[in-house]
Amino acid sequence: MRGLLRKILGKKDRRDGKMKLDPELVGEYRGAYLARATEERFREAGQDGGTVTALLAHALEEGYIEAAVVSTTGSDPWRPRPTVATSVEELLEAAGSKYSISPNLSALETAVGSHDSVAVVGTPCQVSAVRKLESHAYGVADVAERVKLLIGLFCSENLTYKGLTELLEKEIEADLSSVERMDITAGKFTVVTSDGEERSVSVSELRRYANEACGFCTDLTAEDADVSVGSTGAPDGWNVVLVRTGRGERILQSAVDAEVLEVRDVDEGDPATLERLASDKRERAESARCAVWRPYPTSP
Ligand SMILES: Cc1cc2nc3c(=O)[nH]c(=O)nc-3n(C[C@H](O)[C@H](O)[C@H](O)COP(=O)(O)OP(=O)(O)OC[C@H]3O[C@@H](n4cnc5c(N)ncnc54)[C@H](O)[C@@H]3O)c2cc1C
Ligand code: SF4
Repeated sequence: MRGLLRKILGKKDRRDGKMKLDPELVGEYRGAYLARATEERFREAGQDGGTVTALLAHALEEGYIEAAVVSTTGSDPWRPRPTVATSVEELLEAAGSKYSISPNLSALETAVGSHDSVAVVGTPCQVSAVRKLESHAYGVADVAERVKLLIGLFCSENLTYKGLTELLEKEIEADLSSVERMDITAGKFTVVTSDGEERSVSVSELRRYANEACGFCTDLTAEDADVSVGSTGAPDGWNVVLVRTGRGERILQSAVDAEVLEVRDVDEGDPATLERLASDKRERAESARCAVWRPYPTSP
């Protein structure tokens, strides 16, 4: 079906060697790159290459958006708190991944209530929800009209705050308040504590603490986003970026032209690993569905 659509719409086919990543696994896209922020302040504050924060800052400064829905933290250590950022300082404050659920869409109403043009950063499920609102804006036309940039984060699974706390206590023997940095790379969930110690656990251990709904999720790379950003398949300190829509392409190109972002060919990273993880996620969701599927009604 995708092959047929690509023929009709004239999109490039991976088999002719022009598509770097299989759209069957990562969704449709116009361009796939490695990217990072050129300014050190974004790379330092950001989780990987600081691409998301630098792109948002550029969009803000160039007037593409007036505000961005992002996730900061409050008084509890590492507890994500959705917020509406209207300055580069606020974007930097919210940079970095918080590995538990941040209900970012709860801040969308506030954002569109006071601003005509907003960006939203979210996990693939949140990005899809906004795309559905845009496509069928029954009763929420103001929301649909005002979202001008939808940035999706790659996401293999997410944890509840309770799950994250338990994971730290049981598997890593660390208290959340002592954690300076968290990261998921090379199949490991790693934390760096305030005394400079680095402790890791295999990502397969995360699954026991993850949100159960994530087991049914097929989307690793935020297929409904304008621009999707992750680290799987990128060298350290870089991001993989998939540009999917015209408006995403315009803003990214503008950031590259302004030398806010540095980009390289995605082939210089490890696209095969990204494809493998995307495929694993689809298969995992398929198994989860099979496990709850019942061919015949059970007796009452
Ligand atoms: C729960 C979770 C799971 C992830 N899993 C993977 C994965 O399996 N593979 C992979 O390649 N990448 C994954 N990522 C994405 C990765 O951690 C980076 O966010 C991404 O590479 C962008 O890097 P950056 O340096 O450009 O981000 P930054 O410039 O630091 O920007 C990150 C943005 O994300 C927002 N944010 C932070 N935490 C959350 C949250 N919980 N929910 C919504 N928004 C948030 C921040 O406010 C900020 O705007 C995950 C991210 C999260 C939050
Ligand atoms: S794994 Fe899927 S359902 Fe879970 S947070 Fe990520 S995008 Fe949402």
